[in-house]
Amino acid sequence: MHTVTDTHLFRAVSDATKKALEIAETHLPEDVTAALEAAYASEEEPIARAELGAILDNIALAEETKRPICQDTGVPVIFITLPPDIPYTPAIEEGVRDGVTRATASVPLRPNVVSPMTRANSGTNCGEGMPVVHITPGDTFMLTVLPKGAGSENVSRIAMLLPSQVDNVRRFIVETALEAGGRPCPPIILGVGIGGTFDRAAFLAKEALLEPIDEMDTFEQQICDDVNHLGIGPMGLGGRTTCLAVKVKQAGCHTASLPVAVNIQCWAARRATVRVIL
Ligand code: SF4
Repeated sequence: MHTVTDTHLFRAVSDATKKALEIAETHLPEDVTAALEAAYASEEEPIARAELGAILDNIALAEETKRPICQDTGVPVIFITLPPDIPYTPAIEEGVRDGVTRATASVPLRPNVVSPMTRANSGTNCGEGMPVVHITPGDTFMLTVLPKGAGSENVSRIAMLLPSQVDNVRRFIVETALEAGGRPCPPIILGVGIGGTFDRAAFLAKEALLEPIDEMDTFEQQICDDVNHLGIGPMGLGGRTTCLAVKVKQAGCHTASLPVAVNIQCWAARRATVRVIL
């Protein structure tokens, strides 16, 4: 009985992972496309407008031809919500690895995952500790993929600020975008984690990138406006549109600590969620 359950789990999670990657790599979420369209409509600089037009054409072409939106198909980061009646067994993560391997062949995805020191490529987008899988309790068995490109991941930053530097949080976030410049393929989205521990802040920043970007609170909007005033512009070529949205998540932290993590996402802000069907 236990073996059958693991077999079902493995197959269902593998299928859901493959399906979610196939969607995410070829269709941008509607809120991201809408934000890019709004930026195109309001952008006044001719070069910036042309860049946004090219990005929108690229998105439409990817959808039409079922081809990846970007040549960097990223590394898959997986979020699973597990209802109480589904057992947590190794079959779940094995299913994710199988789904990633199958999607690498079917989409196809660029094999991006290598051993960090030897740089040997597995060819499957899997490796030691990869893909990253986050499993949390939930009401329904859902699986979300967030393929993450290196251009934007490489310029993400974390700071262990001191409590006395609470007024510097906004500045650190904006400086991160300034230092990144055109390298993360703007317009960008900033996922921000404030509080927790070193690792929790980084996780919150990544998790913030799952949030819809059609709404921002006052703090998020202020940071977004600050970043847009930098004038970096689409693909770093200047213009009003540098940042589409900022999403912030917080957690309690040590009284002597103030961790702040900024995970930068590029315009190819891919994510897709599917139900895992057993
Ligand atoms: S940062 Fe994003 S848009 Fe730029 S190459 Fe990487 S995945 Fe593609």
